[in-house]
Amino acid sequence: MSFDTLGLSAEILRAISEQGYTNPTPVQAQAIPAVLQGGDLLAGAQTGTGKTAGFTLPLLQRLSSTPTPKGRRPVRALLLTPTRELAAQVGESVSTYGKYLPLRSAVIFGGVKIGPQINKLRSGVDILIATPGRLLDHVQQGTLDLSQVEVLVLDEADRMLDMGFLRDIRKILALLPKGRQNLLFSATFSNEIKRLADGLLNKPALIEVARHNTAAERVVQVVHPVDRERKRELLSYLIGNGNWQQVLVFTRTKHGANRLTKQLELDGISAAAIHGNKSQAARTRALADFKQGKIRVLVATDIAARGLDIDQLPHVVNFELPNVPEDYVHRIGRTGRAGNEGEAMSLVCVDEHKLLCDIERLLKCEIPKGVIEGFSPDPSIKAEPIPNGRNGAGRGRSGGGQRNRAGARGGAGGQGAGRGQGGGRRRSAVPA
Ligand code: AMP
Repeated sequence: MSFDTLGLSAEILRAISEQGYTNPTPVQAQAIPAVLQGGDLLAGAQTGTGKTAGFTLPLLQRLSSTPTPKGRRPVRALLLTPTRELAAQVGESVSTYGKYLPLRSAVIFGGVKIGPQINKLRSGVDILIATPGRLLDHVQQGTLDLSQVEVLVLDEADRMLDMGFLRDIRKILALLPKGRQNLLFSATFSNEIKRLADGLLNKPALIEVARHNTAAERVVQVVHPVDRERKRELLSYLIGNGNWQQVLVFTRTKHGANRLTKQLELDGISAAAIHGNKSQAARTRALADFKQGKIRVLVATDIAARGLDIDQLPHVVNFELPNVPEDYVHRIGRTGRAGNEGEAMSLVCVDEHKLLCDIERLLKCEIPKGVIEGFSPDPSIKAEPIPNGRNGAGRGRSGGGQRNRAGARGGAGGQGAGRGQGGGRRRSAVPA
């Protein structure tokens, strides 16, 4: 199937072909006609499936084929995302695919000055991409009117709930006009998501894109057993020996990410860390530098990496295994995107054997193991408890389901200074 048959305008098709896309992905092939028909949509699709274009393309088509209301441009489409990074990426997609259309878009999220956002909103915006917290800030300040929204998109709705945004979402829904189109995208379908969908969607079209282990199937996975104290040395060796130019490395904690970044720099490998204690500017810069190839290694914590879309990321390394097995699947899903082959390796020390077993149980398969010559683990080293992750130092399971109202405003996406990395309730669904 080609894009030409889906009912998109010449302007949109031109932008798509400039991206080098020839055929729609399965989610696009299903979502584009469904959204163009104007009804609600419930789509099960995770990042990497092409879901962003799946809702952006028909949205652009619909908005551009009906006249803009007279007077100052009202917000006609609202796209909500859980994290700042995802908001920025969706915003980029809207700009890219809509470059030949006379529609205007803006991205608003916390952690940056509100003034420029107010000016942008004042000048008139058709499509608004936002994280929930900063959006409500604008509403409270009277700088945003949502009374003419025609289409609402909830992107990565499961993550929004995981991050405690349910109350904010409900507040936002109350501000929107009733007769609108609603599109809900979620990778998983917990009871909470089903409840949200039941209340929000009117006879939705249902799309479920095969997600079961798709990342795991596309990605070549390997475990390299190694001693705890030699992981950094092994990582530098792998990067140097393989001449890797772009590698995303996961650590369990923010502190661990900082320390590893410094050590890699000492080894002459350019690296930057991306985590919740970094300012928005620093995170944006690190991501941009990484995408442009100015730095070879991006060291990230799990929450910071959510929704990151880095084209054709060839290597993902688990410097430390995650405490929560589902996070392993999210991590390796950063590579092998949109049909590209990827490689995910895990440096596993004796302390992490139980974590590895949990992951393999989740995947329902054993990950191949391969000792790198010169890095055989010393059998006399005994396992030690992992000193983080469950008590606030790293990825805690603690933390309330709701966003911390007092401190998290700047932290849309749960990554601001006022909020720890405890993401609240964990998702229950797993890739089967
Ligand atoms: P997403 O799931 O929206 O995060 O998209 C994942 C990646 O797939 C992004 O890097 C897109 O640029 C890319 N992509 C989206 N649609 C297509 C397509 N039809 N053909 C090839 N790549 C695509």
